[in-house]
Amino acid sequence: GVHLAVEGAVKRYGRATALAGVDLIVHPGDRLGLVGESGSGKSTLGRLLLGLEHPEEGSVLVDGRELRSVLSTRSGRLGYRRRVQLVAQDTSSTFDPRHSVGDSIMVPARLLGGHDTAGARAAMEQVATELEIPLALLDRRPDQLSGGQRQRMAIARALVVRPELVVADEVVSALDVSVQGTVLNLLKRYCREHGAGLVFISHGLPATAFITERLVVLYHGVVAETGPTDQVLEHP
Ligand code: ADP
Ligand code: ADP
Repeated sequence: GVHLAVEGAVKRYGRATALAGVDLIVHPGDRLGLVGESGSGKSTLGRLLLGLEHPEEGSVLVDGRELRSVLSTRSGRLGYRRRVQLVAQDTSSTFDPRHSVGDSIMVPARLLGGHDTAGARAAMEQVATELEIPLALLDRRPDQLSGGQRQRMAIARALVVRPELVVADEVVSALDVSVQGTVLNLLKRYCREHGAGLVFISHGLPATAFITERLVVLYHGVVAETGPTDQVLEHP
């Protein structure tokens, strides 16, 4: 499992302070919820965990090493991308509009998972089956899928490399409530079966309560509260 530590992270965008000194630890196998009102810094913190951005002050440590330096080599980057995957809120950059979603899912399977074409196809079909995605949908382009189907495909693309940690940014918020439960169950099952950790970014409390064990509440870029999910939700 992956151990991540964010220490005193500060991140600004122009005059906006997205993170104003955040400490966070993600233990291996933790299912952690990141909640807070819109603009409180949840997505920014998620991107910091992926190393897509770096804090201006403070640091992000993976297994005790500076993430920034881990990502400075090609092998370090590939290794980390294999271990930690993001399911972004907006799937438009996840899929190439000119290609089938299946082809997009096979890219990380080959690049990170080390599969040849046949192996990548097998890995893709296996993850699709686990996520209860009909295999025929894999041949479609992203614009030929519903929003809910695309969201599920984005999860498949993240899970195809068997990550040790998944950062899921508002992955069910745009779905019908009836579909949310299914997607949450599938995500939870993946974590249990693979001992994987989850950082679940959401403004939806029922979904977060269902899938996480621990909560971190952000408020204007600082951690306002943290604790076991049921305890934090008892005292809103
Ligand atoms: P949340 O995910 O909780 O809604 P964000 O991390 O997206 O919060 O945003 C935190 C703050 O940082 C907001 O004030 C937002 O406007 C600002 N912010 C985030 N990303 C950017 C960006 N790329 N450019 C400018 N401002 C940004
Ligand atoms: P949206 O969120 O865009 O409304 P939904 O996820 O609700 O889309 O899906 C619309 C229809 O497609 C529903 O009948 C649902 O059962 C079906 N569906 C949803 N996800 C998938 C999937 N991954 N594969 C096949 N059918 C799906």
